[in-house]
Amino acid sequence: MSEYMKILVAVDLSEDTSTIAGRALAIANNAEVHFIHVIEPLSFAYGGDIPMDFSGIQDEIQQQATQQLQRFAESQGIDAEHQHIVLGRPEVEIHAKAEELGADLIVVGSHGRYGLALLLGSTANGVLHGASCDVLAVRVGRGKK
Ligand code: AMP
Repeated sequence: MSEYMKILVAVDLSEDTSTIAGRALAIANNAEVHFIHVIEPLSFAYGGDIPMDFSGIQDEIQQQATQQLQRFAESQGIDAEHQHIVLGRPEVEIHAKAEELGADLIVVGSHGRYGLALLLGSTANGVLHGASCDVLAVRVGRGKK
């Protein structure tokens, strides 16, 4: 079996991030590893409802996320060229970055979901559907064995 050459790890910067990255790095061998964090623009959630300029808050969120990603990535030995902060919808941007990089594996976290949360779907589901490469869903949180 051939090894993965380029792995894109989707990180939401939650407490599960080190578990997910740990799994990715454990199978990386000689693969190039990239981290991506996607920031959802506030206007996606509130744009139509609240007549307000979100740009200041958005810049602040972006700055903090960039610093957090940088700190985390460096702690895992991933340099700046392999850290990506992107604005948009997580599934869409994760697919786009995987295509752009020519990744052959995407690694995401997956929470065992129940009830309404299951019906509403998850980022892991969204990434799996429509991905043109393999996807590894690392089980995190409730339901993890
Ligand atoms: P969720 O379905 O939102 O609970 O997220 C499950 C997994 O999707 C996370 O563990 C991450 O791997 C990935 N993910 C969710 N949100 C983001 C995000 N904003 N940026 C990058 N990856 C994300």
